[in-house]
Amino acid sequence: MPPRSGGGTVSADGDLPAVVAGAGPVGLAAALALRRLGHEVIVLEAEPRERPRAGSRAIYVHGATLRLLEGVSPGLGHAMAERGVVWSGKRTFWKGRQIYGRHYAPPAPGRLPHFTSLPQVVSDRLLLDACEAMRVQIAWSTPLRSLTADRDGVTVLGAGREWRARYVVGADGARSAVRQAIGVSLSGPRPRNAYVVVDVADDPSHPLPCERVFHYLHPGVGHRNVLLVPFAGGWRVDLQCRVDDDLDHLATPDGVRSWLVEVLLPGHSLDVTWVSTYRFLQVVAERFTDEHRRVLLAGEAAHLFAPFGARGMNSGIADAVAAARAIHLALQEGDPQSRRRVIDGLSGDRRASALYNRDAAGKALRHMQASDPWIRVTRAVAARLARRSCRVGAWMDSAPYGPRRGRVGMTSAKY
Ligand SMILES: Cc1cc2nc3c(=O)[nH]c(=O)nc-3n(C[C@H](O)[C@H](O)[C@H](O)COP(=O)(O)OP(=O)(O)OC[C@H]3O[C@@H](n4cnc5c(N)ncnc54)[C@H](O)[C@@H]3O)c2cc1C
Repeated sequence: MPPRSGGGTVSADGDLPAVVAGAGPVGLAAALALRRLGHEVIVLEAEPRERPRAGSRAIYVHGATLRLLEGVSPGLGHAMAERGVVWSGKRTFWKGRQIYGRHYAPPAPGRLPHFTSLPQVVSDRLLLDACEAMRVQIAWSTPLRSLTADRDGVTVLGAGREWRARYVVGADGARSAVRQAIGVSLSGPRPRNAYVVVDVADDPSHPLPCERVFHYLHPGVGHRNVLLVPFAGGWRVDLQCRVDDDLDHLATPDGVRSWLVEVLLPGHSLDVTWVSTYRFLQVVAERFTDEHRRVLLAGEAAHLFAPFGARGMNSGIADAVAAARAIHLALQEGDPQSRRRVIDGLSGDRRASALYNRDAAGKALRHMQASDPWIRVTRAVAARLARRSCRVGAWMDSAPYGPRRGRVGMTSAKY
């Protein structure tokens, strides 16, 4: 349903149907989905409009996410696909020797590809353009400070102003003020291993094949694992550190160059555009809603996963679209119990997806870290067999991203 020209529905008592906290990809997707369903929405964003957002971050956008975005804003999925790249293949190495390789046919013209790879700053910009085209109101430099939910709606305070809404979507990221206001905490493992994550600009004089490459135990970098992922304009290189590594050194400009030169083609420029170090949390909110079923958490406000398998933004956008649909259905329900059931159904389903994704990302992490001797032996045997068995090679290739099949919207993990 297209949005109404005047900005959509507002209830008879003047309450907004929804306030969204956070103009990250998840908050913007929630706002688009609400507008598409005909509802007025205001997005409160803590930062100013022209904020710098560094790094490639969520580069891998699943086909399912492109289709969801195309559904909430026609043309948006295609615009993302046009700005991204689809790799021509993928290869996996064990101690410097290739054990698996696969080529992809180019995507069919005019159809959404099964994934695209582009810097998050570009997808954020396209989401913002789509929001502006659909006249979503965004209050920049307006952090949500507090909220109070009751059985009829939510009162939101931010930057000296107050809003009253029927529902709030908390998409305000990992340190979510919304999550804190409803008294929900995140729980789950916090692995000790760290990663150095580097963006390197394309070098037109030494073009690399547009392939995702994973190295188990790369001999040039002290037998650490390395993942190279192409995106439009560059490469993302993830180095898996050891627990006792000196991160301060590995992530300095000299430290980065010392290992990067070993994993790129000889002569490729070392034009590093972003360096970061991460300890990836594996945590999920205890609940995705409040006691009155008026607040819904989405994206990193609700869950944090290791990025292997690209589950973060992809599942966050699925949360956002599901939250918008649940709000749309609940707004049409006259009976309070039915409204609660709609919100409970949605939040329970998205939490189950988040737990699945957390476990799948955890499985991928355990496989890569191999601190368990059984995993170490299995990997070494499989690396040997991969030369003769394509199936074993395919398993070694896919294991660093976790299981792929699962519930709708939980993102099929496939780099
Ligand atoms: C190295 C790395 C690689 C990644 N790779 C991938 C990948 O390939 N694919 C993938 O799917 N995901 C990936 N991710 C994860 C992805 O970046 C995140 O899941 C995604 O950005 C989360 O979006 P979000 O909108 O939930 O949160 P954010 O992007 O953090 O947005 C939250 C917004 O809320 C605002 N805000 C905060 N507090 C308030 C407040 N009180 N009031 C109002 N606004 C507020 C913030 O300013 C921000 O704009 C990766 C992450 C990292 C770190």
